[in-house]
Amino acid sequence: MAAYTETDVLVIGAGAGGGAVSKRLSDAGIKVVCLEQGDWVHAMDHPHMYDGWELERKRSWSFEPNVRKFPEDYPVTGNTTPYTFTGVGGSTLHYAAAWPRFKPVDFRKGTEHGVEGTIDWPISYEELEPFYAINDAEIGVARRTGDPGNPARPEGWGPASRGGKVGHKMGSGFDKLGWHWWPADNAILTRTKDNRLACNDCGFCLAGCPRHSIASTDVSYWPAALRNGVDLRVNARVEQINAKNGRATGATYIDRVTGQRHEVRAGIVVVAANSIGTPRLLLMSAQQGHPDGLANSNGLVGTHLMYHSWSFVDFWFDEPLEGFKGPEPAVLYSQEFYDSDPSRGFVNGFSLQVGTSLGAATSALGTNTGNLAPWGAGHRSFFNEHFGRHALIYVQGEDLPVRTNRVTLDPDVKDSSGLPAPHVHYELHENDRRLVEWGQQRAREAADAAGGVIDTTTSGIGGIDGPPPGWHIMGTCRMGNTPEDSVTNKWNQTWDVPNLFITDASSLTTGAAVNPTSTLQAVAVRAAEYIKRRHRDIASQTTTPSNADAPAL
Ligand SMILES: Cc1cc2nc3c(=O)[nH]c(=O)nc-3n(C[C@H](O)[C@H](O)[C@H](O)COP(=O)(O)OP(=O)(O)OC[C@H]3O[C@@H](n4cnc5c(N)ncnc54)[C@H](O)[C@@H]3O)c2cc1C
Ligand code: SF4
Repeated sequence: MAAYTETDVLVIGAGAGGGAVSKRLSDAGIKVVCLEQGDWVHAMDHPHMYDGWELERKRSWSFEPNVRKFPEDYPVTGNTTPYTFTGVGGSTLHYAAAWPRFKPVDFRKGTEHGVEGTIDWPISYEELEPFYAINDAEIGVARRTGDPGNPARPEGWGPASRGGKVGHKMGSGFDKLGWHWWPADNAILTRTKDNRLACNDCGFCLAGCPRHSIASTDVSYWPAALRNGVDLRVNARVEQINAKNGRATGATYIDRVTGQRHEVRAGIVVVAANSIGTPRLLLMSAQQGHPDGLANSNGLVGTHLMYHSWSFVDFWFDEPLEGFKGPEPAVLYSQEFYDSDPSRGFVNGFSLQVGTSLGAATSALGTNTGNLAPWGAGHRSFFNEHFGRHALIYVQGEDLPVRTNRVTLDPDVKDSSGLPAPHVHYELHENDRRLVEWGQQRAREAADAAGGVIDTTTSGIGGIDGPPPGWHIMGTCRMGNTPEDSVTNKWNQTWDVPNLFITDASSLTTGAAVNPTSTLQAVAVRAAEYIKRRHRDIASQTTTPSNADAPAL
């Protein structure tokens, strides 16, 4: 290829992991090029200011790439519904920004039970803790300290988001049962930071926040990374990571506007294209010396996909609670049943997260239940009984990393650049199904204790039988202990290619029972810190060191 650019580090994907790495490396003056297949998406381009915003979120701003069908998205085939977003900021462009941390036990699940494909992480919570703190400070986390169910966390940038009347109700319900609960940490500003405003409780989140209160990566990390001089190229779809003599040399990308191919050559390549895009790209990068895809000599790329096992229990109170005000993520959580207790009939545990209601159309559409408001005479009374009176408890369970839950390439379906679509297969393990069923019963107990009325027994989302929706896509290129059990070592360095790193949610070894982004960004910041300090070591490595032999920070 005639024209090329040379850089120190090439980052692929400008989402949660890629943005954090680009900023951290460029802080140290390292020359970074980042390639992103989507474009900038301004929060004001989302449907908030339009009366039909709730409906538009199900159509043109759907969480599902297969529904919105933007040209920058790739289609996803298979038996599940993964939710992703494409653009600078990646899937954080429409995330809720709930910001819990994994617990120390989550890093030792291989030792605790080792069921199915479960292994221990090669690092502990204590090793990751400083990087959680750095990341929280960069993006601005709202929290109340002192949760007795978790290790101490630093003061937030601001106080916890308001729990509102729903929070008070549910807190008293958990109190009656004597169960743990705590106001949720959120990556949502409750105090102005940089050029971002504090949340005004308008309630339109999950489609981009017009005030930039939500720490989506486009507004948290990218402005500073660009000031540092990162060369961020949008509409740049990587078709292959190139390698020679066992080392990555850079990547070839297609400019989605002109259709032309370009090459970027780099000393180090970092992939952060998310847990579907990263294995897809590594598999697409099969080439001489890497016949089954890059970093895939053990066949593990794409395997051990995790989603969390989900179930929603929706219920209503007989008084107005104004749950449509305030940010959308959980207002509080209970981790009473977080730890494994095999006497329950399953390993792993779950969080119970309390969410609030959405707007009028969501109420009329039955919220998550599919229990629609009737047309005609009964509509007004249904609406009066439901609007602003709703709360829900999500059972967010830790699913097992099953080897056959995986991402492969679809030989028949292509994206708008003619590249193969990823095919995703996911099924809940029997253990996970038992967990969800048991968790659903606990959620109903909590709703009863708080005085809620449950008018449906099944949830339209998640549930026990079908594959859960993929809000949290994790684990397809996990870090581990040996080249036999994982794709990367403890520094996110691929076992096969010493100068190729993976720093997105695909590197998570287990999924815990909480939302993943605070953990994946902490891992990404840690890997960037290693690359920053150990640049010369990495440049001279011809094989990836074992975890015992790898240099320290
Ligand atoms: C509706 C929704 C709600 C969520 N709520 C929460 C929450 O409350 N809390 C939480 O912790 N998490 C939440 N999540 C999950 C969170 O968004 C993800 O965990 C996080 O964004 C994953 O980060 P990532 O770096 O792995 O990938 P992403 O952020 O998805 O970034 C990957 C980027 O790579 C780009 N890319 C892919 N392939 C290529 C290629 N070939 N060439 C160039 N670029 C490429 C993509 O376009 C994308 O921009 C939510 C997700 C959704 C969808
Ligand atoms: S409720 Fe707060 S976080 Fe959500 S969109 Fe409004 S200002 Fe942004």
